[in-house]
Parts: sequence; C-alpha cells; structure tokens
Amino acid sequence: MECFTCFDHKVIWVEDKYGRATCGPCPICNLHGNAVRKETEKFEKKIDEMKVRERFSGERKRRTMLSNKRK
Ligand SMILES: [Zn+2]
Repeated sequence: MECFTCFDHKVIWVEDKYGRATCGPCPICNLHGNAVRKETEKFEKKIDEMKVRERFSGERKRRTMLSNKRK
C-alpha cells in the first residue's frame, strides 16, 4: 500500500456541490486521473504484446504443419 489517503483505491469519497457523496480521483496519487491513465496504458500494451505473441505462435504452428507435409 502506497497511498494512505485512498488506500490505493485511486479514488476517494468527496462531496459534490449539492453535498452528496460521490467518488473522485485521489488528489495524492491520482491527480487528474493520471495514475489510472498510466495503468490503463500499461494494461493495453500488455494486451497488444499478447496479441502479437498469439499471432506469432499461430504462424509458427502453420509453418510446422507445412514442413511436416513436405516430409
Ligand atoms: Zn491516493
């Protein structure tokens, strides 16, 4: 746990202008939502890598099948 304001939830309970409780970004670790945006980017990058790996292994499988046929 890094943030003691939001306990790493990245959001805190705040009051809106009508005095209702609502969720807002943590001003300590998630100011303007930057931390969440960074995490999302990291996550999307990982998904992209997985997709590339999947495509690559599929290609290799097909090549193996082709070379097996030739024998
Ligand atoms: Zn925080």
